[in-house]
Amino acid sequence: MIEVTALSKRYGSHLAVNNVSFSIKDGEVVGFLGPNGAGKSTIMNILTGYISLTAGSASVDGYDIVESPQDAKRHIGYLPEIPPLYTDMTVREYLDFMFDLKKVKLPRKPHLDEICKLVMISDVQNRLIKNLSKGYRQRVGIAQALIGNPDTLILDEPTVGLDPKQIIEIRDLISRLGKNHTVILSSHILSEIQAVCDRIIIINGGRLVADGTPDELSKALSADGALEIRVAGPKRDVMKTLSAVPGVESVDDLGSFEKGSYDYRVVPEEKADVRKVVFARLAERNWPILSLRDSTLTLEQIFLRLTSEDAPSLEEEEENKIEEVSVETEEESSLTMVKEENE
Ligand code: ADP
Ligand code: MG
Repeated sequence: MIEVTALSKRYGSHLAVNNVSFSIKDGEVVGFLGPNGAGKSTIMNILTGYISLTAGSASVDGYDIVESPQDAKRHIGYLPEIPPLYTDMTVREYLDFMFDLKKVKLPRKPHLDEICKLVMISDVQNRLIKNLSKGYRQRVGIAQALIGNPDTLILDEPTVGLDPKQIIEIRDLISRLGKNHTVILSSHILSEIQAVCDRIIIINGGRLVADGTPDELSKALSADGALEIRVAGPKRDVMKTLSAVPGVESVDDLGSFEKGSYDYRVVPEEKADVRKVVFARLAERNWPILSLRDSTLTLEQIFLRLTSEDAPSLEEEEENKIEEVSVETEEESSLTMVKEENE
């Protein structure tokens, strides 16, 4: 069980983690998802006792990471973003070394044999780490995290830099480990997280912007009562007609997925049910409705929405920053504009 309450971390004047709270139950596999620089590694480094926190608190299995760091650390296996491998050692020498470093009290040989079997590196135990492929090295990194049988694993971008086959292997390994461990892993790629996690915590600009199962996230963000509607008819006129329905706030063109028809996302004003009038108006013009359904966003759309430039949490950040970067403001804003025009 991990409890994080109002956690903040400041590097100099930069607030890298801003008032983040969450809790993770035993046995959960949770993904930290966020773009580069979001604060994922910083949170993980705090949880594992590598760096200090600025404000708030965090505990692992009831042990506060500031008050009882040794006890808290005993419950965590950590694979940092850059695994601390000594590449001139053989795999076994390295694991022996880490076993000593962690002062583990378990019987050495059976424990290390079991880990090697679990992460499938038994056959490379006598090879030098520097001669292993990136996929194997990552497994050695995970083996290192498993020494001492911690109940919680924290894996920072475990699949970064791997090829597609290695990614699948590491993903399978994480799924297997998830059966009897609590796992937190981070990624800036949604599909990675979606493939293995029960729950997703989205972090952006140092803030937690969403926390839930993939289903919950799509529901929560799709709850604006929007409709997706497919209409056979001329696009411009259909859009005009839909926009003119009382209670309709906006109409987005979603593109054409069936010959002679277009899909639209119709967003009503709060709580307005516009379905009947939409039907009547389109019927008047003889434009058949081919389908009509509640609009749900894909996780990809949600992620983009929450981490896009105009996401509310980021806006506030920008406001706070204005004073500090005032000298560069002009140049920065013209750069931003150029970027937008190109897009
Ligand atoms: P992520 O892992 O999500 O990519 P990080 O936690 O590494 O993000 O970084 C969050 C922010 O904190 C970034 O803006 C980064 O530049 C900054 N940062 C990270 N480590 C340091 C450090 N040691 N000193 C100063 N700033 C840092
Ligand atoms: Mg990182």
